[in-house]
Amino acid sequence: MTMSSGSAESVATPAPFRPDEAMPLRQPGVGRAAATGVPPVRFVDLQAEYRELQGEIDAALAQVIQCAEFVLGRPVAEFENAFARYCETAHAVGVDSGFSALELALRAFGVGPGDEVITAANTFYATVAAIISCGATPVLVDADPETATLDVHALERAITPATRAIVPVHLYGHAADMAPIVELAHVHGLRVLEDACQAHGGRYRGRRTGGLGDAAAFSFYPSKNLGAFGDGGMVVTDDEEVADRLRLLRNLGAPEPNQHQIRGYNRRLDGLQAAVLMAKLPWLDHRNVQRQRLAARYAQQLAGLPVVLPNTAPWAEHVFHLYVVRAPDRDRVRALLTGAGVETGIHYPVPIHLQRAHADLGYLPGDFPVAETLSREILSLPMHPALTDGDVDRVADALAAAF
Ligand SMILES: *Cc1c(COP(=O)(O)O)cnc(C)c1O
Repeated sequence: MTMSSGSAESVATPAPFRPDEAMPLRQPGVGRAAATGVPPVRFVDLQAEYRELQGEIDAALAQVIQCAEFVLGRPVAEFENAFARYCETAHAVGVDSGFSALELALRAFGVGPGDEVITAANTFYATVAAIISCGATPVLVDADPETATLDVHALERAITPATRAIVPVHLYGHAADMAPIVELAHVHGLRVLEDACQAHGGRYRGRRTGGLGDAAAFSFYPSKNLGAFGDGGMVVTDDEEVADRLRLLRNLGAPEPNQHQIRGYNRRLDGLQAAVLMAKLPWLDHRNVQRQRLAARYAQQLAGLPVVLPNTAPWAEHVFHLYVVRAPDRDRVRALLTGAGVETGIHYPVPIHLQRAHADLGYLPGDFPVAETLSREILSLPMHPALTDGDVDRVADALAAAF
């Protein structure tokens, strides 16, 4: 029989989907230790999280399916109210991703073409993509070497007459130094949008991340500290006008069907995602405490090794979305950890200004030395609430062996 692409034989009948055989989400370079029978130390473990809360989550999903409120509606409104209360803000507006939360918040501020928006050179790509998506020009600044968040002095130097907004990023779950940033914004008449996509439940000088600027963007990507079963996002704000604009922007500019008051988008949050998030929200603080406890154990077990541990500034309550160390000869160390069955990540290996997509912004290697050094040295170790003390010790042993 000859192979022909259109033949019936080439179309395999798909095997029935069996959830227990589903492939877990994988980091690139999963440990070869699996071959020796020792399961790898997982970087994140979404399956463990589901098993813990399966009863609540399944019931919440069934309820949405029965009432069939799949887009916005009561499930979304209920979660918005709960999340606003959690963040200690007046309003929360659910959207379809963290990227949309960032972009629509900037649009709600009135940011557009000709405006400059200042953010960090060492952030996730979406922060900057959102600025570009609303037509504004991103202006990057370097990181503070102690906290890897925005360097406030560099920020001050980057302000021009065209600057409209600042987007500080609470990177890895550690708040940026918001007081001087908000002060600068006040002096120069700028808006502040927190990128809180990695900092659900974190605090800055006792106040929740998300309630510190004019608005804040959250992501509910599955692996975030509060994650949906797909994409989702939220903007929180105390500014009623911004919240009202966001409700229009996410829903084609229409407060009611067929009445389009402004040009908008379809960036709504789904009812099923809201139900999952609502079921998980009561556990968020507890899960953040577990992360903090694991971080403390890492600090204990890694003491004495030639790695720089994550710093927590006196103003911050760190919620360890990621546990990021700095290691000399990072790529060699990472390969050895992979060989020992320890999954790791790099957040992020290429700073924003050196991404090929941003060649037209005109930045050069050397422009942001701290961000560039970090990108070569940082290594994210496994961090999720289902990690055991034994897992942390295994990671520490593997690191010790690597040196
Ligand atoms: C995850 C993340 C985003 C984007 O969120 P999505 O929901 O994936 O669009 C933006 N900024 C930071 C810092 C993030 O970690």
